[in-house]
Amino acid sequence: MEVRVRLAPSPTGSPHIGTAWQALFDYVFAKKMSGKFILRLEDTDQARYVPESEKEIYETLKWLGFEYDEGPNIGGQFGPYKQSERLEIYKKYAEELKEKNLTLEDEGAIRFKTKKIGETKWHDLVGDKDIIFPNNTQEDFVIIKSDSYPTYNFANVVDDHLMEITHVIRGNEFISSTPKHLMLYQAFGWTPPQFAHLPVLVGADRAKLSKRHGAKGALEYKKDGYLKEAIINFLALLGWSHPEEKEIFSLEEMIKVFDFKQFNPSSAFFDETKLEWLNGEYIRNMSNEELEKRLDDFLVDHPAKGKLKSVIPLVKDRIKKLSDFVPLTDFLWESPEYDREIFESLKIQDLRLMMDKVIQELENMQKPWNAKNFEQVFRKLAEQEKISVTQMFQLLRVAISGQLVTPPLFESIQILKEEETINRVKEAIGFVTSS
Ligand code: GLU
Repeated sequence: MEVRVRLAPSPTGSPHIGTAWQALFDYVFAKKMSGKFILRLEDTDQARYVPESEKEIYETLKWLGFEYDEGPNIGGQFGPYKQSERLEIYKKYAEELKEKNLTLEDEGAIRFKTKKIGETKWHDLVGDKDIIFPNNTQEDFVIIKSDSYPTYNFANVVDDHLMEITHVIRGNEFISSTPKHLMLYQAFGWTPPQFAHLPVLVGADRAKLSKRHGAKGALEYKKDGYLKEAIINFLALLGWSHPEEKEIFSLEEMIKVFDFKQFNPSSAFFDETKLEWLNGEYIRNMSNEELEKRLDDFLVDHPAKGKLKSVIPLVKDRIKKLSDFVPLTDFLWESPEYDREIFESLKIQDLRLMMDKVIQELENMQKPWNAKNFEQVFRKLAEQEKISVTQMFQLLRVAISGQLVTPPLFESIQILKEEETINRVKEAIGFVTSS
C-alpha cells in the first residue's frame, strides 16, 4: 500500500513555525516510504479566512523545499484540494449518515450522534502508545454548520478517507478530536489512518507555542537571514532525535534514518539561541561561493550586491545570520556616521593631534599598502606617542568605520582602498575638530 500523508493547514493567519515543523515530518516520512505528500487547505472557516496566509503557506513550503505531490495548485485525482471547493462532497456524506439515522438537526446545524458506551482507542505512533477515551466524554457534535459549511472534524475525516491518507501527522492539540474522528470512520465503515500526534512545542517561557503565543511566522525566519538547511535541521531536533544523537545532519540523512520511534513524546523546547548557533555553523561550513550566492539573493537593494566576493572571507566567521552582514559591513558601502562618545571611549588624550600623525603616516606609506608594513608603522607610532597598540588600531577602526567592532581592520581597508581610507580619516578629523 502506498503511504500518503498530508499537511492540512487552515489559512487563518501567517503559517507559523509549527506548520513548517509538521510539514517536515510529513515530507520526510513520505520520502522515506516512497509515498506521497499532499497539501490540503482546510478553509471552511470563512470568517477567519486570510487570503495572504494561503500564499504564505505555498511560499513557506517552497522555501524549505517541501514539494508536495498533490495540492490546490497542482491537482490530483481526488477533486479539489481546497475544502471550500468540496462542499457538495460533504453534503453527500452528511446525507449518508442521516440515512443511517446517525444525525440530528439542531438549529439548522446537523450533529453526529456519538456512541456513548464503551471506549475509543488508537495506537499513536509518537510515543508508541495506546490512547484511550471513554465514549461518554464525546457529545453529539456538529458536522454541518447552519451556514451549510462542514466543521473541521467532519471535512477532515471525509477528506482523509477520500484522499486515501494512510498516516495523519499533526499537532498534539488534535488528540482530543481524534475519538470523534474515529467514531465517524466507524459510522461510515471506513478504515482509519494511523495517527502520529507530535509533542507539544514550547517556547522560552515553557508555555505552548502558538500563533497567538510566541510563534513567529515561518517566513520571518527567512527574512531574518536563516538558511533553510539550518531551519530544517533545527526543526528536526524538536521532539525528534537522530538515532546516533547527531546534532548536525542534512534532510537527506534524516530521510534515511527517520523512524517514529525516535520521537520524544514529552514537550519539545523551541530554543532560538540554538537555532542561531546552528545557522552560524551552517554558514561556516558552507563554501565561500555558496555563501556569496546566498547573501546576494538575500540582500535587496543593497550596494553590496554583486560586490561580495572579497568580503565573504572577512564576515564568514562573524555572522550567525545572513542579516548580520548588514550592520557589520555598512561602513564598507557608505560613509560612516561618527559619534563623539565612541571617539572618547578610546581614551586618547589629544585626539586631533594623534589623528594628524595618523594621516601623515598614511600619506607617506608606499602604495599599495601591505599588511605587514601597515602594522609596523602603526605599532611604532603607538610606541612613540605612548598609547597602546590596541588604542592605535581602534582609533583607525573608528576613523574608517565609525564603529568599534568591524571585520579585520587591514582587510577592510583593502576593500575601501587607500584613497577612500585617507578620505575617511580626514573626515573623522573634521568631525573630531568640529564636535
Ligand atoms: N486544519 C487543521 C489545522 O489547522 C488540521 C489538523 C489536522 O492535521 O488534522 O491544523
